[in-house]
Amino acid sequence: MKKIRVIGGGLAGSEAALQLAKRNIEVDLYEMRPNKETGAHKTSKFAEFVCSNSLGSYDITNASGLLKHEMEIMGSILMPVIFESQVPAGGALAVDRELFSQKVTDLIENNPNINIIREEAVSIDENIPTIIASGPLTSEKFSKEIQNFLGEEYLYFFDAIAPIIEKDSINFDKAFYLNRYNKGDKDYINCPMTKEEYEKFYNILINSPKIELKSFEKNASFFESCLPIEVLASRGVDTLRYGPLKPIGLVDERTGIENYAVVQLRQDNKSASLYNIVGFQTNLKWSAQKELVHSIPGLENANILRYGVMHRNTFINSPKVLKPSLQSRKNQNIFFAGQITGTEGYTESIASGMLAGINMARYINNLELLKLPQETILGALTHYISFEGHTSFQPVNSNWGIIKEIELDKKIRKNKKLKNELLAKRSLDVLNDFLSKI
Ligand SMILES: Cc1cc2nc3c(=O)[nH]c(=O)nc-3n(C[C@H](O)[C@H](O)[C@H](O)COP(=O)(O)OP(=O)(O)OC[C@H]3O[C@@H](n4cnc5c(N)ncnc54)[C@H](O)[C@@H]3O)c2cc1C
Repeated sequence: MKKIRVIGGGLAGSEAALQLAKRNIEVDLYEMRPNKETGAHKTSKFAEFVCSNSLGSYDITNASGLLKHEMEIMGSILMPVIFESQVPAGGALAVDRELFSQKVTDLIENNPNINIIREEAVSIDENIPTIIASGPLTSEKFSKEIQNFLGEEYLYFFDAIAPIIEKDSINFDKAFYLNRYNKGDKDYINCPMTKEEYEKFYNILINSPKIELKSFEKNASFFESCLPIEVLASRGVDTLRYGPLKPIGLVDERTGIENYAVVQLRQDNKSASLYNIVGFQTNLKWSAQKELVHSIPGLENANILRYGVMHRNTFINSPKVLKPSLQSRKNQNIFFAGQITGTEGYTESIASGMLAGINMARYINNLELLKLPQETILGALTHYISFEGHTSFQPVNSNWGIIKEIELDKKIRKNKKLKNELLAKRSLDVLNDFLSKI
């Protein structure tokens, strides 16, 4: 049987390689780290989380939560590892990033069907079945090679990383533990602000110097769900109070007061020694970040262990070049997976890696490729990115807007929770039925 190439040992590439190996297919897995860095990854491990440590909701009435349930049904290999590495984060599914990527690295390194090649891939051999999962920070040389292969223009945009704080440096005379609406355990650390404190913070933020963008990065648009805090702030003085600094449902039990604004910190590692500041991805200069963080009540003396940074994000024009099976239109041997396809987010990247791995295995076994039903979130995503009718294509994460409409009477349509429950149930029924027939 043919040996498969997987390019990129990130979230998508790791899942894809493990899916192939599980089916007894040999894989050459190319990963350029640590010989060549991406600028955002910090380790040489496989499946590293580069920014937040949260994969979003696991609740089935949330589109991202439903995607996780679909992945479990389809046999995602990384999903159980996520649960093994889970840290408390209210309703969200968050992991200890070090533990998670170490576990995935162990799975890959100990798999006899996977041959790890620690090299930058620079060419595509169209005669070798290959899954390209080199991510949003694909190396420059390989980006050019993909461009040559596809003959289509690349689109560039950017997102940013939030600072990480050492918990022991937080002042708990001011900060307090609580989840919004007091739901579940007290996972989040909250730093409350009065109106005056918020205004002082806001002024520092909007007047802070930013890191100069490189020439090729100018005219870029941002990753909408991971906007830099300074970009959100530039939209108006109260935008943050309706976004990441929303005080609603965060009453300080010591005073009984719901504050004017609240900065939240989410646990970042299993031992709870590190916390990231929620929604604080930023492109501010490091000295400015320090001043800004220290202006937050409770973080006056915070030890910032990692500053926020901003990065290029690369994706292909999938509607022109991909099929819903994630196989390229140009050459049946070449598949794409992960963020580079325009399925945006950690969960989505793992999910598309899973589908690409399954479909590559089916391809080399001369089986029909899976085109998932559009009633499922993963089917909706893969159909969305490969839909030729897009006039201007932008990456998308899992959301209810892309899923196949459901016939409902008016009363139920207005009840969002009930509607989502019905959509989720339909998705799982359709998926189970679909899988039972193949
Ligand atoms: C800075 C940043 C922050 C992000 N933050 C979030 C977030 O908070 N939440 C969220 O849901 N999503 C976030 N994303 C989006 C996305 O979910 C992640 O980028 C995710 O890691 C994508 O998975 P992937 O497998 O496609 O790519 P990656 O996980 O980046 O994996 C690609 C791998 O390919 C390797 N590689 C690249 N070029 C080559 C080459 N030529 N040869 C060999 N190997 C190569 C890289 O080293 C890397 O290991 C962020 C993206 C970026 C860039």
